Amino acid sequence: MADTLRDIEAKVHAGERLSFEDGVRLFRTRDLFAIGRLANEVREKKNGNRAYYVRNMHLNYSNVCIFDCHFCSFYRKEGQEGAWEMDLDTIFAYAAKARFEKLNEIHIVGGVHPKLPWNYYLEMLRGLKERYPELHLKAFTATEIDHFTRIARKDAGTVLAELREAGLDSLPGGGAEVFADRVWNRICSGKARPERWLEIHRTWHRMGGRSTSTMLYGHIETDEERVDHILRLRALQDETGGFNAFIPLAYQVENNRMPGLPRPTAQTDIKVHAVARLLFDNIDHLKAYWIMTGLKMAQILLSYGADDIDGTILEERIVHMAGAESPLGVSEEELCSLIREAGRDPVRRDTLYRPLEAIETTRSNH
Ligand code: SF4
Repeated sequence: MADTLRDIEAKVHAGERLSFEDGVRLFRTRDLFAIGRLANEVREKKNGNRAYYVRNMHLNYSNVCIFDCHFCSFYRKEGQEGAWEMDLDTIFAYAAKARFEKLNEIHIVGGVHPKLPWNYYLEMLRGLKERYPELHLKAFTATEIDHFTRIARKDAGTVLAELREAGLDSLPGGGAEVFADRVWNRICSGKARPERWLEIHRTWHRMGGRSTSTMLYGHIETDEERVDHILRLRALQDETGGFNAFIPLAYQVENNRMPGLPRPTAQTDIKVHAVARLLFDNIDHLKAYWIMTGLKMAQILLSYGADDIDGTILEERIVHMAGAESPLGVSEEELCSLIREAGRDPVRRDTLYRPLEAIETTRSNH
C-alpha cells in the first residue's frame, strides 16, 4: 500500500465512509494494485466469492429519438435510414424467444419517440405480462419516463403507478451519464436533466420500486466529476435504499458526434470499478457490464470490486451500434466458465439478486 493511501485503507478497514477528497485521491493514484486489493476486500465482505449473472435479453422497441446526445450512436431521426420502431405484435413475437431460452428478464429501452402514444407503452407492458408472466420487465430509463409525463400529461408518480399496474417490475439506470453540469451541457443538453433523473428514481423508490444506477465514463469527465456523480447517487441511496446495483458504463467511440476520443483504457475501466466499489458503502452490487468492457476485462473486474457480470444477453443493439467489440451475446456455459476461471462461484440471479439455480458447466479452463 502506497503511503499516500494508508489513511484511506484505515477508513475502509474501519468501515468508515470515504469522502469526496478520498475519491479523487483514489482516482489519481497510480497504485492500481492497492485500490484493487481494497476494493476486493469490500467486494468479498459484501458478496463473498459469489459472481452473479442473469439470463436476460434486450428489447429496443425503437431507435427514433427527438434528442441528439453527442455520445449516442443508437438514435435516428424519424424517417432517417436505419430508423426502426416495432409494433406491439412484433414486440410480443420477439419476446417469445425469452420463454424459449428460459430467460428471467427483459430489459426494454428505446429512444424518445416523437409520436408513439402513451397507450403504446402501457399496452406493451400489459401484453408482455399477459403472455409471459414469468418474465421480469425492467423497462424505460428516467429519460423515457420524463417523456411519458409529457405525452400522458401526468406527473411522474402517476405515470410510474400506471406503468406498474400494466406490468413494470423495475427501472433500468440508463440516462444518468455524468451529472455534472459542465459534462451534461456538452454531451446531452436536451434531455431530462440530472435533478430529474434523481427525482424519478426517488419517486419510484418511494413507491417501493427498485432500480439500478449508472455512470457513463471514459469521455470528457474529470476525476472530480466522477466522484461527484457517485456521491450524488450515494446520497439518494441513503435516502431511499432503492438501488440494487451500480453499473459503470464504458464510453463507446464509434458513430457518434464526439469524434477523436479514444476508448477508455484498461486502467480507466479498473479504476472506475474499484473506486466506485470503495465509495458506495450503501449499494451491495457492482456490475462489470461485459457488453461494454468486453468479456476479458469483465472477468478481471471480478477481482477489482465487481460481483456481477450481467447476463447472457440475447441480441444487444445499442452498444454495438457504437462500435463495441464484444460479442452480441454469450452462452451461459461460457459465462460460468469465465467466472470459475476467475476463481469465483457463479450464481444465477433474478433481477433483484435472489439466487436461482445456476447451470452446471462441464467445461473447465483450468
Ligand atoms: S442517449 Fe437516449 S435520449 Fe440521447 S439521443 Fe440516444 S436514445 Fe436519444
